[in-house]
Amino acid sequence: MAAQPEPSLILNFEDARHLVEEHAARLRPRGKELVELLDSVGQVLAEPVIADRNFPPFPRATRDGYAVRAADLAQLPAKLEVIGEIKAGVAPSDVPVKLDPGQAAGIMTGAPAPPGADAVVMVEYTSRAGNTVEITKGVATGDNIVPVASEAKRGQRLLSSGMRLDHAAIAVAASVGRSHLLVYAKPRVAVLSTGDEVVDIDVPPGPNQIRNSNTYSLAAQILAAGGEPLLLPIAPDEPGRLRELIADGLEADLLLLAGGVSMGKYDLVEQALAEFQAEFFFTGVQIQPGRPLVFGRVPSSRGHGFSRAGEDTKEGASAPEAHTYFFGLPGNPVSTMVCFELFARPILEALSGLSPRKLLFLHARLKSEIKTKTGLKRFLPAILSGEFEQTEVELARWQGSGDVAATVMTNCYIVIPSDRDRIPAGEWVPVLLR
Ligand code: AMP
Ligand code: MG
Repeated sequence: MAAQPEPSLILNFEDARHLVEEHAARLRPRGKELVELLDSVGQVLAEPVIADRNFPPFPRATRDGYAVRAADLAQLPAKLEVIGEIKAGVAPSDVPVKLDPGQAAGIMTGAPAPPGADAVVMVEYTSRAGNTVEITKGVATGDNIVPVASEAKRGQRLLSSGMRLDHAAIAVAASVGRSHLLVYAKPRVAVLSTGDEVVDIDVPPGPNQIRNSNTYSLAAQILAAGGEPLLLPIAPDEPGRLRELIADGLEADLLLLAGGVSMGKYDLVEQALAEFQAEFFFTGVQIQPGRPLVFGRVPSSRGHGFSRAGEDTKEGASAPEAHTYFFGLPGNPVSTMVCFELFARPILEALSGLSPRKLLFLHARLKSEIKTKTGLKRFLPAILSGEFEQTEVELARWQGSGDVAATVMTNCYIVIPSDRDRIPAGEWVPVLLR
């Protein structure tokens, strides 16, 4: 028989999420590795990236036109003598040594402004005749020139350890000449689906069997979150084999179980984990989908340094006790997905070295009324549509948390507070993107 969870271990959404965030804040990645720049995309930076020179390294023109002294354009139109043409990438010897009063130089976007010039006039406001340019619009000092080192000074930190490397971070790393970056090792996340009715995808299912989708959806979510999924075989609803597979899963940095955490006679996961001296932080959350969600940890002998509260390695402190964290996710495929995003993701991200972050909600106008029941905070699959400022959101029609076919057609979840049983059309509602 599955153990009855203590009522105190059933938390509301906010408390459960805060608890997970608190644990996540104490977790550290397994190690670091040096990888090629493009192999670092999506991973978490494990070193600061420093400006190796000033940005920009010279006063950079941001428009095609003429480099001028702004004071020369007090009277308009102004006629100036053109003393040269400066294109981007030009050799320093081809940049005029100095612009004197009454002079201008043709200049292209990205080229260095010559000494003496303090602004660039856009070519649209000029007309050229031989060595003379006539200018019809004034400029203020500094217009269309980015001063030396105004974006970053040499030695300044441009990227910090703990940030996910997206395309903008890659641009910064490339701009300081980094062909390799130190990143945190990806956490290894074991995935264990349970259930006598579940068969793997290369096996023809019998009439009363269903194919294993949870292992694969979780693996996809783990990959997207920057982890390395380790797929375990399906565990039957039988304690011996379940225990063996849990032992294998606890070798990883994080164990995600799917199924077997409800109140049924054959929901054996909690009981099996208890045999590993598991500490349970919660065994249920007042949400839909995903109410039977379990979160806890097991003492680990691997000892690669998961710190406990207040035990961050200081000199003289005792060695931190090691744990492997686990989630028992409900087996219904949409519950599994939602619980991963809401709860497992912060732990995975912490193990991958990412600095902690809060859940981000958008707000959108509800297209049609929602009627539901109070008591649970709901995250219901929905479709966000419209364009420009006219974004609307609408619940998907679905058959409940087993309905992956309906969920795949959606792009977000509408969040319904636990004290609302009706939300009228037109109200602004929080939305979690998928
Ligand atoms: P459980 O949480 O074990 O009670 O399972 C809840 C529902 O999810 C049942 O209808 C299961 O058949 C289904 N289910 C459990 N595991 C999986 C899986 N790996 N893939 C797809 N559906 C599953
Ligand atoms: Mg089951």
